[in-house]
Amino acid sequence: MDDLSRLRSIVEEQVGHSDFMLARLDIDGQTFYGINAHGEAFDKPEGVTFQGQRHAEGHALSKARRAGASGGEATLYVDGVLPPCQWCKSSFAGFGRALDLDWLTVIGPNGYLGRYTRGGGYETIRKSF
Ligand SMILES: [Zn+2]
Repeated sequence: MDDLSRLRSIVEEQVGHSDFMLARLDIDGQTFYGINAHGEAFDKPEGVTFQGQRHAEGHALSKARRAGASGGEATLYVDGVLPPCQWCKSSFAGFGRALDLDWLTVIGPNGYLGRYTRGGGYETIRKSF
């Protein structure tokens, strides 16, 4: 998460406020970053919500998909005040299938932990405290 903290400082300085979310996805030996309200257009995989794709989490996941990353275990780090929203949580399984993942572990702020498992859905393992 240090990586995201550094990135947050840089973006804050650029945009002059701190009202944004960032995400970092480690997948298939590569790293992809996302920010909410990114304004980029992506093909929407089945099971992914429109809103979920526009948030920081969906941005990182969509960039990975477009780059052809796939397979194995991936970890998504979410930086911000709140854990991933309902739109994102309901999209993680769709992204997991689209990226052909065995597991997608989601590590959010304040101890939030969730996981998509191949053949199953997405579940919150530990809520933020
Ligand atoms: Zn969201």
